Amino acid sequence: MNIGCHISIAGGIEKAPKRATDLGCETMQIFTHSPQGGKILPLTKKICQKFKVQNSKYKIRKIYVHAPYYINFASSDNRIRYGSVSAIRKELERANLIGAKYVIVHLGSAKNLERGKAIKQTIKMLQKTLDNYQDKTKLLIENTAGEGNIIGDTFKELSYIIKQTKDSSIAGICLDTQHSFASGYNWKNFDKTLKKISKEINLKLIKFIHANDSKVECGSRKDRHEHIGKGKIGLNAFKKIVKFAINNNIDMVCETEGQGVAKDIKLLKKFRQILIKK
Ligand SMILES: [Zn+2]
Repeated sequence: MNIGCHISIAGGIEKAPKRATDLGCETMQIFTHSPQGGKILPLTKKICQKFKVQNSKYKIRKIYVHAPYYINFASSDNRIRYGSVSAIRKELERANLIGAKYVIVHLGSAKNLERGKAIKQTIKMLQKTLDNYQDKTKLLIENTAGEGNIIGDTFKELSYIIKQTKDSSIAGICLDTQHSFASGYNWKNFDKTLKKISKEINLKLIKFIHANDSKVECGSRKDRHEHIGKGKIGLNAFKKIVKFAINNNIDMVCETEGQGVAKDIKLLKKFRQILIKK
C-alpha cells in the first residue's frame, strides 16, 4: 500500500511528481485544474506524456484525481445539477488520459430540498454522468463531515447510493478519516467503529483513504483537517487505521497543509514499517 498527500499542480500537472517526491510521497492526489472553476486547459498528448515520464522518474506509483469543489448533484438548480454531470464526466476522461486510478467526488448538498428527494436525484445524476462511460478510471464517492444538509455523511447512505446507481464505473468510496470522525464515527474506539461501518457498507468498497486528523470533536459535523497526531483522533487510532489499510491494500493520502505534511507522511510510513515487521 502506498502513502502520499494532495499535491499542488501550480505551473502544470507535470510539475507535481517532483513536488510529491520531495515531500516523501509514493502516491499522490491532484486536481487536474483549478478546483474553484475558471478556464480548464486541455490535457494534450504532450502534457500527458510529460506527466507520465515525471511520475516514473520520481517513482510516484499511483495517481488519484480529486474532482472540483463546485459539484452538486443534489442541487435544485438545473444548471448546477447538469453542470455537475458534465464536469464529472469530463474529469473522469481527463483522469483517464493521465492514467489515474480513481476520481474522488463529493456529491453535494441537498440544502432546502427534502432529503429523500435529493438522494433520488443524486442517483439519477450519477447514472447520467456514467452513461456509456467505458474508460479505465473509475469513480469513488467520498464521505462527508455532515455539515448542513450535505449528502454522504453516513456509510449507510453511500452504500445505498452506490447500490441504486447500479453502475460498475463507481468502484466504491474514499474514506476520509476526519469527515467520518466529524460525522460521529469515533476512531478512538477503532474496533467498535469499524464494526459499525461494516454493518452499513461492505468494507471491500473502501478503495482509498484520506488520512486526516481532526481539529474538531467527534460528531461536530465540521470539515477541519489537522496534522496526524495533532488532532482529536490521535496517533493510536491512526496506527490502527494504517493497519487496516495495509491488510486491505488501500492507498492513503493526507490532505493537510504547509510544512507539516512531510511529517504526516513520515509518521504514516513509520507505522507501516513497524506493522509490517510484526
Ligand atoms: Zn478528503
